[in-house]
Amino acid sequence: MPIDYPSRIPLARLPTPLQPLDRLTEKYSTPHGGPRLWVKRDDLTESGMSGNKLRKLEFIAGAAREGGCDTLITCGGIQSNHCRTTALVGARLGMRVQLILRGEHSGTSDGNLLVDQLAGASCAFYSPREYFSRQAELFDYWRDFYQQRGHRALCIPTGASDGLGIWGYISGAEELLGDCREAGFEPGQIVCATGSGGTQAGLTLGCYLLGASTRVTGFAVCDSAEYFQEKVRQDVAEWADGREGGVDPAALDVNVNADYIGPGYAIAEEPVYRTIAEVANLEGILLDPVYTGKAFHGLLQELHRGSYQGCENLVFVHTGGHFGLFPHREHFGFLQ
Ligand SMILES: *Cc1c(COP(=O)(O)O)cnc(C)c1O
Repeated sequence: MPIDYPSRIPLARLPTPLQPLDRLTEKYSTPHGGPRLWVKRDDLTESGMSGNKLRKLEFIAGAAREGGCDTLITCGGIQSNHCRTTALVGARLGMRVQLILRGEHSGTSDGNLLVDQLAGASCAFYSPREYFSRQAELFDYWRDFYQQRGHRALCIPTGASDGLGIWGYISGAEELLGDCREAGFEPGQIVCATGSGGTQAGLTLGCYLLGASTRVTGFAVCDSAEYFQEKVRQDVAEWADGREGGVDPAALDVNVNADYIGPGYAIAEEPVYRTIAEVANLEGILLDPVYTGKAFHGLLQELHRGSYQGCENLVFVHTGGHFGLFPHREHFGFLQ
């Protein structure tokens, strides 16, 4: 049965390419009996708006327009890819954007924050303590602020990961399985970085709805495996709520690998930076230190351990994050 999608505003350049990673396969996978490696280039969903958040925001923007909203409010770290994408989407659609940002603004704006400001988003900065302990209040405050000025705001949760945002990767899974079919295979594994869970939730649910026997694994970049097991099922439960023939979230196979988080969110050690350099050098593909570089580094370690034996084709979903690379420039001293 075809999937019945809700309204969306087309913003992404779709379909994104599916590419084999032959040099990385030869170096890291084949010697350990592992699969052929592929990458789904969701870093190419757009230029400024690039990355995975754009797929989710197509559906969120659709709901905002249907609900008569003229303002988008969302939150994230100072280098949030999600906030940067939302800022540009708002500009593109003629909507105001209010960002609730975690961290101090220190002098020069770099990476994603620079783009937020170029796009004309209003940025409010909060200490991590205030950001986490008062998040619901901060959303209420800004929603009221715009309402009192005659605007109508839609609040988007962290990473646009909720029952609405996961439509982006239900659709992404459908596209990806179609690409693979065209290339002559069904993927044994789909791997992505997991930061707020919505991408993994959409991919897992999409594969399930389409009857694919593909295993979806998220490499966590923060929190714990238990946290994301719960979060992914919670997003799916929200999606299923009130839907006919709904899915039992408990029946989904949710695979989270939390072994490669390292020192913490957005903090990486040298091997991750070396992986980023190697993937750029061998395949001409740029990863970022917060999400895709960390996840890909984890993937290479698992290949080395022989974790994917029996899988013939593995697809890594490149979720973007290029702008977050530059604020980490000082960690690449080994290149000189
Ligand atoms: C947000 C983000 C992720 C994680 O996706 P979630 O749906 O939040 O789990 C992965 N990679 C990049 C580059 C991101 O910006």
